[in-house]
Amino acid sequence: MSINKERAPEGFQEFVSTINQKLNLVDMEFRRSHEEDDGNPVWALVNTNGDEIAKLATEYSPVEISYFKRLIELIVTADDDAFSASSIMALKEASKIKTPLTKSAAETLLQRFVDDKWLIQSQNGKYSMSQRTILELQAYLKDEFEDYLIECILCYDIVTKGQRCDVQECKSRFHHHCARRYFSSQNEKVCPACKIVWKSSNIIGDH
Ligand SMILES: [Zn+2]
Ligand SMILES: [Zn+2]
Repeated sequence: MSINKERAPEGFQEFVSTINQKLNLVDMEFRRSHEEDDGNPVWALVNTNGDEIAKLATEYSPVEISYFKRLIELIVTADDDAFSASSIMALKEASKIKTPLTKSAAETLLQRFVDDKWLIQSQNGKYSMSQRTILELQAYLKDEFEDYLIECILCYDIVTKGQRCDVQECKSRFHHHCARRYFSSQNEKVCPACKIVWKSSNIIGDH
């Protein structure tokens, strides 16, 4: 089930799968997702062959890409499901890569990642992954960070902003808008998997 599918105009899914049949011949496809914040649909034309992160090579140097990979690791593996990194942490990481970047070079590059919409910088200065990164680098992210990136129970997209079950071992995750949607049709607010009371205050993401 997906919100976007339901929002999509009649026949649109069919249209997309027809196009994708052709695109797949050249290792590309249209991929659907939604903004994690508000659930608005997002589409991207993505490469489906091999190393997705290689596509960054047209825009960035190998050193810049290795910094980007470290940033992604920092964000994905952040404590407490925060899925974000402070600018201090991000800058510190630049000095740890094989070919270290100066602070000012790292600052300039971080801004480029934000301007190019690979990263988002929040009001409090923390960096997180953009929807573009989650969508276009999905295979890379799933390969590298399988244990960290868990899908939403309702829409099956990766959750880096949302809510989690109170039970540590339980894998139930929702985007905020997916939780609202799901619980509005339920009599009791319990985890769909383990049935414990669902607390909307168990936040995933920048907090
Ligand atoms: Zn969702
Ligand atoms: Zn649960």
